Amino acid sequence: MRKRLALSHLPTPIQRPQRLAEALGVDLYVKRDDMTAGAEAGNKIRKLEYLLAAAREEGAGCVITCGGLQSNHARATALVSASLGLRSVLFLRTSDPSAAAPLEGNVLLDRLAGAEIRLISPEAYRDRGALMAEAAAEIRAAGGRPYVIPEGGSNGLGALGYVRAMEEIRKQLDLGLAGGKPFDVIVHACGSGGTAAGTALGAARYEVAGEVRSMAVCEDRATFARIVVGIMDDARALEPRLGSPAHLVIDDSAKGPAYGVSTPEQRARILQVARLSGLVLDPVYTGKAFSGLWDLAERGELSGKRVLFLHTGGLPGLLAQGATFADAL
Ligand SMILES: *Cc1c(COP(=O)(O)O)cnc(C)c1O
Repeated sequence: MRKRLALSHLPTPIQRPQRLAEALGVDLYVKRDDMTAGAEAGNKIRKLEYLLAAAREEGAGCVITCGGLQSNHARATALVSASLGLRSVLFLRTSDPSAAAPLEGNVLLDRLAGAEIRLISPEAYRDRGALMAEAAAEIRAAGGRPYVIPEGGSNGLGALGYVRAMEEIRKQLDLGLAGGKPFDVIVHACGSGGTAAGTALGAARYEVAGEVRSMAVCEDRATFARIVVGIMDDARALEPRLGSPAHLVIDDSAKGPAYGVSTPEQRARILQVARLSGLVLDPVYTGKAFSGLWDLAERGELSGKRVLFLHTGGLPGLLAQGATFADAL
């Protein structure tokens, strides 16, 4: 097994939101990975447990990563780095890099954690790999030891965090929790592919679910299929015991107008979910994924199935978009 830092509170609970399940007519469970930790909570911390273990082993003193302006991954990296005494450098994508980033949501938390933020344009972001490598070279030249983490922590090593999450669910099922039987389908939001890759590999390895439905929040199906297959190959190279993945369906029907931009219907559903269950979804990831699940339920595609929704977190992203909910409330 690969080295791992214990950074999160595990196992996260699997809950049954009764009234929401009844409203949708679905045998619905929710894996609360929004509860993996405190302010650093969400799915990214499971990947960071492996990535930062590797950074530590290499003697790194500084972590470099990237994401959208309101990146949950960047925020988790900044906070966990602070807890480990590591410096963090975040390349964040924004339409106007010359304007100061508003002190809200994830950016506020990044700043609190002392991260160095470098705002870059969407064009520059396309070359994020080269930009991060350049920053790493500069740090090395100055005598420092950088460790670069790709967008979303999504590489083979990071994906092992979700293989392990599936092992965790297997243990919960073995204890008789959540009905004790495997799920028919796991539904989750897909943004950089690492969660999908680890979940699909782990769901098969630990017989947790026959199908993983990854709801794309930005790119289309074909793009994500390519990305996720690449990450699964890398993960298997690190852990040869991993066999074939569960049936993986990348579904881009709920991706909305753009990354970070939701539809009025998706926002209305975020509101309904909160009122029916107390679960808080976000407009960037989990609200889109759950809206996709809702569509499947309405079309009868989930009837008779045991469904697990993976709640991957994202609360600060919601808090940075309050104004977009004015019409729905
Ligand atoms: C990053 C993120 C996702 C997507 O996970 P990937 O592994 O990047 O595909 C889903 N939900 C939330 C809240 C996230 O922050």
